[in-house]
Amino acid sequence: MKKIFLTMVFIAAVIAVSAQTQPQQQQPQMPRQQQTTLKPVDPARMVPGMMEVMEPAVKIVKPGATDREAPADAIILFDGTDVSREWEDTRGNPSKWTVKDGTLISVKGSGYIQTKRKFGSIQLHIEWKSPSEVIGDSQGRGNSGVFLQERFEVQVLDSYNNPTYRHGQAASIYKQYPPLVNVSRGPGEWQTYDIIFTAPTFNKDSLTYFTPPRVTVLHNGVLVQNNVSLHGPTDYTRIPAVAIKWHGPASLQLQDHGNPVAYRNIWVREL
Ligand code: MG
Repeated sequence: MKKIFLTMVFIAAVIAVSAQTQPQQQQPQMPRQQQTTLKPVDPARMVPGMMEVMEPAVKIVKPGATDREAPADAIILFDGTDVSREWEDTRGNPSKWTVKDGTLISVKGSGYIQTKRKFGSIQLHIEWKSPSEVIGDSQGRGNSGVFLQERFEVQVLDSYNNPTYRHGQAASIYKQYPPLVNVSRGPGEWQTYDIIFTAPTFNKDSLTYFTPPRVTVLHNGVLVQNNVSLHGPTDYTRIPAVAIKWHGPASLQLQDHGNPVAYRNIWVREL
C-alpha cells in the first residue's frame, strides 16, 4: 500500500514539474505602433486626419480638351485616317469598310470589322451616324452594332421615330435590355456612346458565369444602361444562357448589317 502511495506521489510530482517546464502559449505581441493604431477610438474624438489616406497617390491622366476627346491613357482606334492600323475583317484580312471625310462607313456585304487588339474590361467612346436618307424601317433602318468581346452587342440603329422591339432599338443590349430612355438624335446626326464594360469570369464548367459581363451605356451623354448584368452572348435567336462558353480577352467589333452607318472618334481605355 505504501509502495502504491509513493508511486502516485512520484507521478504527481513529475506532472507538476512537466507543466512548469512546458513553454507557455504566448499571445503574439504587436508592435507598439500597431497597438496604438488598433486602439478603439472614441467616435466623439475622431479628427479628419484619421480618415485620410495619402498613399499611393492616384495616377495622373491628362484629360482630352473636351469630354469627347481621348485622354492621354486611351488607345485611339480610329482618328479619321487609317483604318488598317487597328482594324481588320473577322478573317484577319484588311477591312473593306470605306474611310471618307474622316469617317469609317460600313459597306454592305463586307462583313463585320474587328480590332486587332483583344480587350477585357474597357471604357469605350464611339461616335456614329445613321444615313440621313431614311430607307427601310424597324431593324432595317440604320442598323449596325458595337460588339464587346465579339459577343455582346450594344445596338446601333436609327431609332428616331422608328418603332421596333424595345430591346432591339438603339442603345439596347440586343434582345436583353432596352435602353432606359430613347435619346436618339435624328437620321444623319452624330451620336455618341460611352460604354463601360466589365468582362465576365467563368465557373470551372466553362459554361456558366462566376461573374456575368456587365455594361453601362451613356447615349448622347444620358445614362441608358445602368451596369446591367448580361445573361450570355446577345444572339438573334438563341437563349443567351445556352450560348455561354469560356473566353478570354477578345476583339471589339462593328457590325455590317447592310446599312451605311458611319463611325468616327473611336477610343478605348483598358480597365
Ligand atoms: Mg445591330
